[in-house]
Amino acid sequence: MSRIQRIKGFADLFPPESTAFTYMETVAREVFGAYGCQEVRIPILERTELFARSIGEETDVVQKEMYTFTDRKGRSLTLRPEATAGVLRAFIEAGGHEGVTKLFTCGPMFRYERPQKGRMRQFHQLDVEVLGAKTPQADAEVILMLWTFLERLQVVDLTLEINSLGCPACRPAFHAALRSFLEGIDLASLCEDCQRRTTTNPLRVLDCKVPTCRTATVNAPRLLDHLCPECATHFAQVRAILQAAAVPATINHRLVRGLDYYQRTTFEILSGAIGAQSAVAGGGRYDGLVAALGGPDVPGIGFACGMERLALLLPPHRPQPMDFYLAVLDAAALDTALLVGQTLRRHGFRGETAFEAKSPKAHLRQANKLGVKTCLLLGEDEMARGVIVVKDMATGVQTTVAQDDLAQALGFRTA
Ligand SMILES: [Zn+2]
Ligand SMILES: [Zn+2]
Repeated sequence: MSRIQRIKGFADLFPPESTAFTYMETVAREVFGAYGCQEVRIPILERTELFARSIGEETDVVQKEMYTFTDRKGRSLTLRPEATAGVLRAFIEAGGHEGVTKLFTCGPMFRYERPQKGRMRQFHQLDVEVLGAKTPQADAEVILMLWTFLERLQVVDLTLEINSLGCPACRPAFHAALRSFLEGIDLASLCEDCQRRTTTNPLRVLDCKVPTCRTATVNAPRLLDHLCPECATHFAQVRAILQAAAVPATINHRLVRGLDYYQRTTFEILSGAIGAQSAVAGGGRYDGLVAALGGPDVPGIGFACGMERLALLLPPHRPQPMDFYLAVLDAAALDTALLVGQTLRRHGFRGETAFEAKSPKAHLRQANKLGVKTCLLLGEDEMARGVIVVKDMATGVQTTVAQDDLAQALGFRTA
């Protein structure tokens, strides 16, 4: 029979990758939970319209990168390319919009991009959305939450970059200044995407990574020079709180989000843990998005953190060794061995029981391979005497213990 292979751009995760993913999720639940975030689990499949409306019809994501298909009833559905839209849809549908709601979710997202190292078509994100708060304190706390999470994971060499996108009151003047700047430069100095963006989405020209685009826009007008007094005060307060919390922020004038409902604070956290500084997580304030999705006029701010990238930045993880390997020397002892193993696990020990009788030598090789602390040996002779042989794998010392006293002998745990 021919072998069925996984789809290009999709990965199977075994340890240590799967262990790292579980670890990141556990720490995320702990840290975000400590700030009052509640975990939501939402569908992977949504109506296509949700993403067209939230991410924007004109974006590359919606135009080229979504897994969209028609279901059997002719409805257009899409595998989520990001988490925010689904979380907000769920928030709107759940009702109860008074006060502040802090939501956390994680899981797979899907984008039809050219697969390359560190970029998969199915990738994973951790996502936090804080709804119902518009003060600078909320922005600062969301950023600190993300920073604390990365610190707890021991990701080193972290830097925080922030910017402000202004608000509907002050952005039009900036847009006008940016447009007239872009009209004044030689279009040929921009990449193809940016040539199109100068008319469709000029803001996005600023965050293009192509070096010639960077050079061409080095003197572009800056958002921070166009903020209204309210936006300027908001931004200054966010920075002051972060400074006081010993998380100083560097201003990055190119940190923009090209969508209309993004407002005020945007941020990214970078790490130099594996070579050049690169973004680990980013987010921003999106007052107006909840309303644009048909919900109440509730402000929001959130971030997403790519787990594949983050996994590369974690310090090496040493798996916790198993406590025991239960070696069976005679087939007649297999049942008893299984029951002894079961008792040990009920006492909190972790280990494996052999399913086949083998020679002591073969079993000890297996015990070594598993890296267990103790190898237990059980044959017909031990069965007859109601005992078990306990071999300490580090010292090689071998003792004989009554089966009934085994948990005690191994250092009784929970009971
Ligand atoms: Zn403003
Ligand atoms: Zn460009």
